[in-house]
Amino acid sequence: MNAAHPTAPLTQSASASQAVICYVGLGANLDHPVAQLQRALQALDRLPGTRLRQHSQLYQNPPMGPIDQPDYVNAVAELSSTLDPFALLQALQDLEQQQGRTRNGVRWGPRTLDLDLLLYGQQQMQHPQLTLPHPGLPMRAFVLYPLAEIAPTLNIPGLGSLTTLLAHCPAEGLQPVLTHPQQPCGVWQVQVGASAAPRKAPL
Ligand code: ADP
Ligand code: MG
Repeated sequence: MNAAHPTAPLTQSASASQAVICYVGLGANLDHPVAQLQRALQALDRLPGTRLRQHSQLYQNPPMGPIDQPDYVNAVAELSSTLDPFALLQALQDLEQQQGRTRNGVRWGPRTLDLDLLLYGQQQMQHPQLTLPHPGLPMRAFVLYPLAEIAPTLNIPGLGSLTTLLAHCPAEGLQPVLTHPQQPCGVWQVQVGASAAPRKAPL
């Protein structure tokens, strides 16, 4: 876990002037995915009215869609933002484009960057452009485990506690990426089970 900024008092209000705690899922599997995620985390911190509060470590993860594509690197970021949910979604899609995202119509196909708005405070919404919480959140290990790393006591609006969701979602195939510059690029094992915090153990 990395603290990006000292934490300021925040509310869960969606009012334009008050910052709301949001969670963004990051994923990439093309063109140096680790670098893509590191660049995206910096860019999130530079969005208007937005601060990166903390983020999970990076995880390597088998692809969810077509299997003839590289493994993904995933992470979750915690933001505070005064942007409304649609403005934030637009900003995320702009960042995807800036980092070379192309949409070729293949669902869950390979991409340089995917930014999903997982949670926007306690908001629940069903809109053609935006569903909150993100519909994939409850069943995706590559979302739930990184989220638990930075917000273990979170309650997901309409879905219950993160702990309960984790208990129903094995961490199969999810492995923290070792990114320390002095170390060779490799992966570390994740403890499989209901524990929110992955245990680092060299392979
Ligand atoms: P996926 O992330 O499932 O691979 P895309 O990134 O291509 O798919 O997003 C497809 C559409 O999903 C976007 O155009 C966006 O309007 C919509 N969408 C709905 N809810 C959300 C959300 N919570 N976060 C991100 N995109 C969302
Ligand atoms: Mg997406």
